[in-house]
Amino acid sequence: MIGAVDIGGTKIAVGMVDNSGTVLSQAQAPTDPDHYTSGIKSIADMLRETSQKAGVELTGIGIGSTGPVDPIRGEFGDVDFLPGWRGKSPVRDLEAIFNVRVALENDGDAAALAEAGWGAGRNRSRLIYVTVGTGIGGGIVLDGQLYRGVNGAHPEVGHHVVDPAGPECSCGFRGCWESLAAGPAMVAWIESHAPAAYLHRPGVTAKRICELAQEGDDVALQAVEHEAYYLGLGLANLINLFTPDAIVLSGSVMKSAPLFLDRIREVIRRGCRFVPAEKTQLTLASLGDDTNLIGAARVWHYRFGQGT
Ligand SMILES: [Zn+2]
Repeated sequence: MIGAVDIGGTKIAVGMVDNSGTVLSQAQAPTDPDHYTSGIKSIADMLRETSQKAGVELTGIGIGSTGPVDPIRGEFGDVDFLPGWRGKSPVRDLEAIFNVRVALENDGDAAALAEAGWGAGRNRSRLIYVTVGTGIGGGIVLDGQLYRGVNGAHPEVGHHVVDPAGPECSCGFRGCWESLAAGPAMVAWIESHAPAAYLHRPGVTAKRICELAQEGDDVALQAVEHEAYYLGLGLANLINLFTPDAIVLSGSVMKSAPLFLDRIREVIRRGCRFVPAEKTQLTLASLGDDTNLIGAARVWHYRFGQGT
């Protein structure tokens, strides 16, 4: 029974996940970006609480975390929004508390491993996982192995440029895929393009825009069209670069995938003529809202398990 820990910028989720990827119990707490020691204490408390609730004994701990992290050393890297956690080792600290083996990966890689092992990516030898929410992240799994860059680095699929004249991004470029095709890009489009009298503008969210588009709202439909175009460009780039068997789509924006998929496929068809793009299956993630938590557990199996 694996204790799964999903560390995000705003909340930490903890749960017990069995050997088939089912979450038996879970708890969550807000992330304190400045204080690592109290954060680890809170994680340990939640691990005890959830294992008790599920009536199971912890045999290992897997962690998926917002990045960058160093999976080999088991340490946090230079995480902008968790300043108090930089350079700390949750692997060493949780091993000391629970006396079990602990593994850490970037959360995009963790979720990619989960979809590859227990979800929509099963039996796909070349798989790219993409999550579209407040940002765009992902992971690449080739023949069951996580693709790692130099020094174990995690590739940033959200930060390839699709329009150099686009909005500034925190990475240093303009017009990254993330800045044009994550949820906030739809909100930004409404804010700069909707007519002055547009009633739904104040406080609009990506989720609300999708609902309005489903109801046939003309302005929301234009925002969706814009979003789908940029989603399609980025996915077409991934297909041209990697020609994977499947791209698994996840994240809050992809909960409204039917709004985007036709246009995405049209963009891909138009621009991927030199690769068998029709052979790359676009598929929706199948593990639901617990993907990141299940991914954290999968990290342990990936590192230490055999044949799982
Ligand atoms: Zn960027």
